[in-house]
Amino acid sequence: RATRGGDEVRGYVPSMGQIFLRRFQMVTQFRQSLEDGHVSVHYQPKITLPNRQVAGVEALVRWVHPEFGRLGPDEFVPAIEAAGLIGVLTSFVLEESLRRVRKWLDEGLRISAAVNLSVRNLGDEDFPAKVQRELERFGVPPELLTFELTESGVMSDPQKALPILRELHSLGIELAVDDFGTGYSSLAYLRQLPVDQVKIDKSFVLGMGTDLGDLAVVRSIVELGHSLGLTVVAEGVEEDVARDQLEAMGCDVAQGYLISRPLPEDRLEAWLQARTA
Ligand code: C2E
Ligand code: CA
Ligand code: CA
Ligand code: CA
Repeated sequence: RATRGGDEVRGYVPSMGQIFLRRFQMVTQFRQSLEDGHVSVHYQPKITLPNRQVAGVEALVRWVHPEFGRLGPDEFVPAIEAAGLIGVLTSFVLEESLRRVRKWLDEGLRISAAVNLSVRNLGDEDFPAKVQRELERFGVPPELLTFELTESGVMSDPQKALPILRELHSLGIELAVDDFGTGYSSLAYLRQLPVDQVKIDKSFVLGMGTDLGDLAVVRSIVELGHSLGLTVVAEGVEEDVARDQLEAMGCDVAQGYLISRPLPEDRLEAWLQARTA
């Protein structure tokens, strides 16, 4: 009743029809929103541990819809995927990110950008060739681009995903397994994937201060990752204690609100300047 879900507290429960209509509108209006500049990319910095240098940024898409207001990617990315428009979204985020990396290179900074992929991007056989063209267009070396993919995404259709991942990897692009630990953990598969990084899912990192089980998961992913020669990234680092614990475990990179929230381009620039000043 009144105390259960957030929506019920606000006294508004969208009907199935409303949800459907909203999704329909999102899908039909996405391209126009891109053209109108209502879709943008925010960047969240990551730092290396223990020396706390900028390790790169993750590109996270944002949409300020004229009618619905700010939409979180968790809300619209699945609708965009289902409508077959993920290629359009990924191209946009990739292009924005490479443009940003290029500007940094021109300023003498080597900062890499990580772009999230959907499993549907791997259904496009031409994807690696498209990415290579974009890297060339912006003159960005492939090692300054990382693609993040969820474990479940890769494992839903390994036959299709693996050749494309191998091709991306052979171009010199870094690959990261996102949200690690949440899927049907395919530790055996991890060995066979052409990946360079594992990202520990934020649920474990957020819980590790109070839950010994979460702490154990984080510790074992750091160990597993290192035994496979991978860079281990922790996301969801909100507290000093978490960062210190991760540092003590030997985790390589930290990302989270403690370091910075995802920022629009101009605010990221200010953040970088304050850190390197
Ligand atoms: P993700 O790839 O796991 O991204 C990390 C999410 O955690 C981001 O949410 C980020 O804002 C949030 N986050 C970062 N630090 C903290 C922290 O310290 N505490 C907490 N509680 N959260 C933190 P966001 O931006 O809402 O993105 C949600 C998901 O949407 C992403 O999860 C990713 O799966 C997807 N997504 C975002 N941008 C894109 C994109 O360009 N393409 C695709 N295919 N998916 C995207
Ligand atoms: Ca990610
Ligand atoms: Ca993640
Ligand atoms: Ca996620």
